[in-house]
Formats: sequence, structure tokens, C-alpha cells
Amino acid sequence: MERVQKTEQEWREELSPEQYHVLRQKGTEPPFTGAYTYSKADGMYRCGACGNELFSSDTKYDSGSGWPSFTEPAVADAVELHDDHSLGMIRTEVTCARCGSHLGHVFPDGPGADGQRYCINSLSLDLDEKN
Ligand SMILES: [Zn+2]
Repeated sequence: MERVQKTEQEWREELSPEQYHVLRQKGTEPPFTGAYTYSKADGMYRCGACGNELFSSDTKYDSGSGWPSFTEPAVADAVELHDDHSLGMIRTEVTCARCGSHLGHVFPDGPGADGQRYCINSLSLDLDEKN
């Protein structure tokens, strides 16, 4: 996979201030506010920063958490996981493998075979809707 590398200045110019805060500064959108929290549309959720294919709507489910939730990435290599000890919690951060942007966190309480819940900010995603 060819990595996308841009300066923070370039990202700042390309993204909305809200997107920039979440994707590049590891922010979190307030729960139950994101555009895709309740979306049931079919398609591919791409990285809001670089367009990398991240999550299929087939794996999206309503976790009740207030953020879009998925049981697994569309392609395992599409995302990278990192230990995150910020805010006094031990969590696993999910980033886009192509551009390094922050997507959300993964928790071990999902309903699928792997038991994973990818809890992803709507602002980090761009749905490519299937017609
Ligand atoms: Zn990306």
C-alpha cells in the first residue's frame, strides 16, 4: 500500500476544522451527533482524509454507543492498531494504515466472531454509497 504523507498544513487546508480535529489531532466527536451513527445505507466507508477503503456497511451495527460501530475492517491491512494510554484509560487506537489519520478505538465487546467493536468517528469516514 502506498502511504499518503502530507504536512499538517496541507491537511488543515483540505479538511474541515471538525475533521481536522478528529483525524489529525485524535479528537472525538460528541456521541450521537455523527452523520453515520444511525446510517443503514449500503456502501463502503472510506477514510475521510485519504479515501482508503476501511469498513463495509455489511459489518456495521448499532452498538448503542453513539458512534458508528463495525465488527471488522473491510481489509485487515486497511487499519493499524496502537496502544493508547491517554485520558487515564488503556484503549486501542485505530488509525488509517494509508495516511495515519485517527479513526477511533477498538473494544473487545463486539457481537461478531472476533468479538471486536470498531468504534469510529463519523467525521473520520466518508461513505461511498452503493446504488
Ligand atoms: Zn487515510
